[in-house]
Amino acid sequence: MRINNLVKETAAELNIDLCGITDGSDLNDERKKLKKRIQTKYWPQPFASQQLDLLTKPSLQFKNLQSIIVIAMSYNNGASSSFLSNYVTVKDYHNFLQEKLEKMASVLQNKLKKKFDYKIFVDTAPFLERALAKRAGIGFIGKNSMLINPKFGSYLFLGELFTDLEIKKDQPLNLDCGECQICIKNCEGKALKDEYLLDGEVCISYLTQKKGVLSAAEINKIGTHVWGCDACQNKCPYNINKTENSEPELNFFNKNLEYFLELDRKVPPSELKNTAIMWRGSRILQRNALIAVYNLGEERYFEAVKRKLKDNSPIIRYYSVLALLELNYQRAKKPVEQAIKNEKNSRYKKEMLKLLEQKGE
Ligand code: SF4
Ligand code: SF4
Repeated sequence: MRINNLVKETAAELNIDLCGITDGSDLNDERKKLKKRIQTKYWPQPFASQQLDLLTKPSLQFKNLQSIIVIAMSYNNGASSSFLSNYVTVKDYHNFLQEKLEKMASVLQNKLKKKFDYKIFVDTAPFLERALAKRAGIGFIGKNSMLINPKFGSYLFLGELFTDLEIKKDQPLNLDCGECQICIKNCEGKALKDEYLLDGEVCISYLTQKKGVLSAAEINKIGTHVWGCDACQNKCPYNINKTENSEPELNFFNKNLEYFLELDRKVPPSELKNTAIMWRGSRILQRNALIAVYNLGEERYFEAVKRKLKDNSPIIRYYSVLALLELNYQRAKKPVEQAIKNEKNSRYKKEMLKLLEQKGE
């Protein structure tokens, strides 16, 4: 019990919101659920491993695994942006949690007066970290598939420290969603097909990260989201009036559409490089901003979008044409015709022409 207490005490000293300890045993229940899911059309999930062993056997990641310390930090920052998900914080949470866990390991080694082996993970291995957090007593899995803690809600970043140190394990919470179905009814992408069943391919959070030319249905679905989507969490009763994050580095990265439209992709601003949303590159952010303008239909963005007709990326030029024609067809016709005339990429030239013809019908 002593080391368990020491870990919790250290977590509190380091301003870590939640901390729990579990073992390295296989996630057998999750494995059974995944085996059933493989039989459905909702498999595989985008950006996730398809290897059941890697997903459900945490011990594959660390030799002599005795304990897993799971930490969670709230990013409930009171933000209500229609452009960016709340999880877009001023500092990339991967780095933030990595540093917290490094510090924790060092403080624990000092307190225990002994070295132990450890390895830190912050979204850096395919195992099911929410399931580990659940087993460590940090929260329960909601019908929206998010981990929910009764004090902090579901806006939580997770990190894990795997170690060969023997520590007394914590117990899971005895909580669930009850009869509530709010997230399923409010899912903007109609991606929550049923309780605990997310169709990742149509989830807006994924679509904002999906590269290439999107279908008309996908463009409509994205709405004004430049990155991520929180609709299945915003109305969750567990997120109402919850404790807000206490770390300034996890404050919201509050930027508007102009910021992304005017973005210099060659030399992205340093504050943007510090966030977690650059992993797919800056072009996709600008593409999504153009899609947001298209869906908003507000002409005040016209000149900013028009400048993008001369962008060096055919994808950006294509989405600029799409947005301009939607903002004001008469005003857009001439510059768009000129842009099509100048277009060197034959595939996008054809697509732009199609847009112009459709709009002119
Ligand atoms: S992130 Fe958006 S689209 Fe995805 S499940 Fe939640 S509400 Fe639905
Ligand atoms: S909205 Fe309701 S059903 Fe969905 S996760 Fe929250 S409590 Fe559970």
